[in-house]
Amino acid sequence: MKKKLIIVGGGAAGFFTAINVMMMNPDFEVIILEQGKEVLNKVKISGGGRCNVTNVCSEPEQLVKNYPRGNRELLGPFHRFNTQDTVEWFENQGVKLKTEADGRMFPVSDDSMDIVQCLIRLTKKYGIKVLTSTKVIGLHKSNSIWITKTNSQTFSSDFVMLASGSSKLVWDLLSSLGVGLVAPVPSLFTFHCKDTRFRDLPGISVDNVSLKIVGTEIKTTGPLLITHQGLSGPAVLKASAWGALNLAQLDYKFMIAIDWIPEIDEKAFTKMTIDHARKKILPRNPFIANRLWEQLISSIVHENLTYAEAGKKKLAQIFEALKNSTFSITGKSTFKEEFVTAGGVDLQEVDFKGFFLKKINSLYLAGEVLNIDGVTGGFNFQAAWTGSYLAAEHLAFRDS
Ligand SMILES: Cc1cc2nc3c(=O)[nH]c(=O)nc-3n(C[C@H](O)[C@H](O)[C@H](O)COP(=O)(O)OP(=O)(O)OC[C@H]3O[C@@H](n4cnc5c(N)ncnc54)[C@H](O)[C@@H]3O)c2cc1C
Repeated sequence: MKKKLIIVGGGAAGFFTAINVMMMNPDFEVIILEQGKEVLNKVKISGGGRCNVTNVCSEPEQLVKNYPRGNRELLGPFHRFNTQDTVEWFENQGVKLKTEADGRMFPVSDDSMDIVQCLIRLTKKYGIKVLTSTKVIGLHKSNSIWITKTNSQTFSSDFVMLASGSSKLVWDLLSSLGVGLVAPVPSLFTFHCKDTRFRDLPGISVDNVSLKIVGTEIKTTGPLLITHQGLSGPAVLKASAWGALNLAQLDYKFMIAIDWIPEIDEKAFTKMTIDHARKKILPRNPFIANRLWEQLISSIVHENLTYAEAGKKKLAQIFEALKNSTFSITGKSTFKEEFVTAGGVDLQEVDFKGFFLKKINSLYLAGEVLNIDGVTGGFNFQAAWTGSYLAAEHLAFRDS
């Protein structure tokens, strides 16, 4: 008799588990239950419709550094299925990926539908049943059989995979089974800032800043973008991910300090002021966009002052404004390209050999349902691919 697997959730983790189980062991009957009218919705809209499938970084020790939650637990799994395996997997199914300068990987077509169609085609090929508009509302075990109740019918199965993303209902079901959870909070968001120094600057970006959340250990580097509402870009998104828990506790009201010229030390700055001694300090500069430069230092120097005339005190003030200017953050906004939830199933509950519960080893979990999340760059999908693949492998080769 075929073994039966019910998968809750028709997203990246649900589809990847289903397909890989069937590829490794066709002696399974697999059913995906999806509450929505459509499957793979997030894959479709991901990466601005391009789907940032994974990242070029494949060395497990480096890869885990991109996960504010889950970095310790993912190290072993990444030795078994990492970003390179993802690239090969999709290429073997006819979807070629390309790498962008910052390491993000997308389908060469720049179309997320390539990934969606590939996954749907494979579910058909392997006879996987996909039931949409089917919401799971109850889950319990009776003897050794799982009973999954939905809005329309009840299913029995040998195994259940929860690939339900950040579903409160499923977390509540898990809680009633005695599974420990970590309260969910948003990760990957942009910062609201009304500081007058950013007035009239939306659209200006700086290639590399160093950003610190004052009063914490959180420090990130990378490009920064000034927006209508405040600040965005990789340096901000990384800070939002690493600071997800602290910043929620602060109700998203906190101070940041920005070093606008992290590659320039005092010696290099002084040399510039000597090399340009006869030049006016405003409006042009060799470091950052001139308009930002003006806004940052216009309260320190007047229009016609040259570097030679400025004197040591003013030059030190300019240097301080460039290296350590503080801004008050008053809230957050959603980052449209990608947002995720930190929190979920407590990682201590999970056996990462096969992404199943230590207490109930016929219940599997992968993707965003777990308290794992990555910074932006394809790392969130990668966590889903890795967890699903290893869960599928464990399911396919288990004895009973
Ligand atoms: C706008 C946006 C863009 C993103 N872009 C990227 C990107 O480019 N790269 C990247 O790495 N990450 C990206 N992410 C994050 C990535 O989409 C998620 O990490 C990933 O989709 C998680 O996959 P999952 O299968 O665990 O969850 P989901 O994709 O959320 O799938 C869970 C599914 O379960 C279903 N479900 C929930 N509860 C029930 C229930 N009770 N019964 C039945 N079904 C249920 C849901 O309807 C959903 O379809 C993005 C996220 C967003 C929101």
